[in-house]
Amino acid sequence: MRALVVEDNAGDRWFFSELLRSRGYEVRSCETGEEAWNAFRADVPPLVLVDLMLPGIDGFELCRRIRAYPHGREPVILAVTGRDEPDALGEILAAGADDFIRKPVPPAQFAVRMEIAERRVRDRVERLGITQELEFKAWELEQLFRNLHDVFFSIDVTAGRLIQMSPSAEALFGHAIADLLADPDLWKQYLLPPEGGVDTWTEMAKGPPGNQLVREYPIRRADGSVAWVHARVSVERDPRYGNLRADGVTTDITREWQAAETLALRNRELAALYRVSEVSLTAESAEAAYAAIVEEVARVMEAPVVMLEALDRSADRLVVVAAHGIDLPEEGLTIPLHQTPAGVAVQTGRPLVDRDPRPRRDLTHDAIRALEPRLWASFPLASRGVVTGTLTLVDRVPRNVDERWTQLGASLAAVIATFMERVDAEDALRDSEARHRALAAQLKQANQELESFAYSVSHDLRAPLRTMQGFAHALLQNYGDALEPEARDYARRIIASGRQSERLIADLLAYSRLSFEKIEVKPVELDVVVAQALEQVQADVTESKARLTIARGLPVVLGSQTALVQVVANLLSNAVKFVPPERIPEVRVRAEDRDDFTRLWVEDNGIGIPEGQEERIFRVFERLTQSDDRPGTGIGLAIARRGMERIGGRCGVERLPEHGSAFWIDAMKERRKSRRPWLRRGRRS
Ligand code: ADP
Repeated sequence: MRALVVEDNAGDRWFFSELLRSRGYEVRSCETGEEAWNAFRADVPPLVLVDLMLPGIDGFELCRRIRAYPHGREPVILAVTGRDEPDALGEILAAGADDFIRKPVPPAQFAVRMEIAERRVRDRVERLGITQELEFKAWELEQLFRNLHDVFFSIDVTAGRLIQMSPSAEALFGHAIADLLADPDLWKQYLLPPEGGVDTWTEMAKGPPGNQLVREYPIRRADGSVAWVHARVSVERDPRYGNLRADGVTTDITREWQAAETLALRNRELAALYRVSEVSLTAESAEAAYAAIVEEVARVMEAPVVMLEALDRSADRLVVVAAHGIDLPEEGLTIPLHQTPAGVAVQTGRPLVDRDPRPRRDLTHDAIRALEPRLWASFPLASRGVVTGTLTLVDRVPRNVDERWTQLGASLAAVIATFMERVDAEDALRDSEARHRALAAQLKQANQELESFAYSVSHDLRAPLRTMQGFAHALLQNYGDALEPEARDYARRIIASGRQSERLIADLLAYSRLSFEKIEVKPVELDVVVAQALEQVQADVTESKARLTIARGLPVVLGSQTALVQVVANLLSNAVKFVPPERIPEVRVRAEDRDDFTRLWVEDNGIGIPEGQEERIFRVFERLTQSDDRPGTGIGLAIARRGMERIGGRCGVERLPEHGSAFWIDAMKERRKSRRPWLRRGRRS
């Protein structure tokens, strides 16, 4: 420990210094009051031993200065004096010394006094520590108060007085702390529980200690704005005076509350939008959907009257397609645009919200005037920027609606517009489907008429053609010799052309017969079909010296014997016909199993089909070669295709890699009992 010794007498100075050193002190000794004052301020010691009688600043003055110094309250001052007057003691203590020793000082007495002084020093150091700690705590609390947004408060409930409140209250409540503390009622509107008030606190005090009251409620700030607070209050009896005391924290939760509120609202809106789209999707008819939609809108928007109106642009009017809260007349409700506020929404394409529509000039339609509307809101239904109708909400009592309400109305209108657009599109589709069906029927009818016309024409052409050929023959036979060679050639040409025309007519007749004659489908043996077809083309085969390879045991298929023979004959005839002159035709006929079909191949080594022409050749009159040495009508393959189609089959061609083509026909397989072997087995046993 450090000690300051102030003594002008050198002997005493040494004496006291040594006594203190012997007690373990680190001593700084001074001769004058001035010197000591400077030393004291430079480094405040816990113990000062001072001679009262000093030149200049004497001991009394030094004591007073020390005590007046900011850090001078703590050191223990031990005065040393030679005076022995009755007043001296009072004077010494009044100056600020803690104790005094009379000179000359007997060492034993000095020790006792020192012990007392040292105890004091220890007390003071301890007290200093405690004070400092307290001050620090107070500072910390102050900081906490200052920096926290939460408002801490203490209320003397018994006295109805606000005891203290943290500075953050100014920001939250908008009042100066001083005002809150001074006004006996002001704090109440912010801190008392909104329901129950003081009674809630007094009730709480009766319950178990440590109970907390937690409440969230709105407050109105000094500037009139509303804030939401979360308050947590505990109520206890003050141990000193027994007063009821409420301590608590109030937190500004306006933003959280707003966020939660917005979220809840948004959720309700989304649910509404979802329900509207759901009824749109699940309703059995458009009418049912519209009815469900207006109900839902009425519920969500809390509107007693809701109308869904479709715009009839050609007549500048709105047709109410569904309504809630009003009975639609039997003949429907149609309102000219200029007689309803909804017309404005149609014209501007923007929502119209009129909080008092009574003076409106467009409120002239009887049905609408009868509503006596006090709130009118119309939301345009727009699809791709074009207004197609309106969603109208009407209230018959004055009502204040906010921005959100309007927004929700607009969102609902958007969903409804999308739905109505879909309904329109579906209607249009149904219309066009019906139109297509009618057209197809007309076309079929026309086709049939045309085909039967072609049939009768071809049929009727045959007779004169035969007559013509007959006379040409007769001319050659009976008068051939009389004719010039040129004339004979003409006659032959007449016969050849007649034959070609006959072929053409025969083919056309076959083709049209295949088209509209009834065809009976039944099991047909392909072996028989191929044999009969070969018979038909025998002349061509013989003439061309073709080599034929015909697979045996061809399967049974479903079809018409006549049609199949005609088809296969055409393929065989082509196979031997479209072969280069120097090449011997080779034709192969075989069958292949293909799921539900049997495919019959007719492959040749002919001139082949140029790439890309595979489909074309199946059309009527399409021929790739026009040479005279391969006579034809261009109908053979068309007959093949039509014939196969009529018996539920198909036909086509594949180009062969080297040369030649592979024509095929697919005929339905016969569903034989053998395909259900368990039945046969069952019958046998
Ligand atoms: P046509 O045989 O009377 O000419 P088709 O309808 O039978 O009429 O055939 C149409 C055209 O398809 C033929 O003119 C010919 O160009 C081509 N064609 C048909 N079969 C073959 C084949 N096996 N090889 C090459 N070309 C063919």
